[in-house]
Amino acid sequence: MFDYSMYQNHYERAQKLVEYFDGHYQRVFAFFSKKVPNDRIRIFFGKGTWVNDEKTEISYDIYNSLVDTGCLVHEIGHIVQNYPEKNTYGEDTPEWVKEGMAEHCRYRFGKDDSDWKIVCSQEGYYETDIYYCAAAFIIWLEKKSQRRDFIPKLNNWIVSGERIEDFLMCVFKQDVRPLWEDYKHDFPREVIYPL
Ligand SMILES: [Zn+2]
Repeated sequence: MFDYSMYQNHYERAQKLVEYFDGHYQRVFAFFSKKVPNDRIRIFFGKGTWVNDEKTEISYDIYNSLVDTGCLVHEIGHIVQNYPEKNTYGEDTPEWVKEGMAEHCRYRFGKDDSDWKIVCSQEGYYETDIYYCAAAFIIWLEKKSQRRDFIPKLNNWIVSGERIEDFLMCVFKQDVRPLWEDYKHDFPREVIYPL
């Protein structure tokens, strides 16, 4: 449901956004082979775009451009993840995994309504540029694995409280750091990925 009570003159925009949200919600959950939850999500116009910890509320930035709907898909990415706060070893899930995976969803499913592109420059680094570079790195890992289910499997792995490093070791027999070096070697300049 879209709660536009704070901005009643934005009825039409709210209707468009909720339609967009519904369609993309289904697609993202299908990609991750997840059942769409029955829980209602309240979306409202706010300052900044975010989803709450309970995954029941999304704020959509009222100041966003009219075509910038991809950020809703990024938030849907967080809802699908629903990662535990701590893994089974008591460590936090790395921010680059959370944001990189969500940003990957935005690129994969949400780029139809904006000219948003995924870019990672030579200066970028996945642990500090946790949005673009991390998403680009995850997509590169997916391609390298040649497995269509790489990202859903990675997602399930983290949901079950395991470390991403161990998953990468299982799939590639390499640690995250040397994989990143390979990534940089493969794409030495600014790269825009076609999926
Ligand atoms: Zn995010």
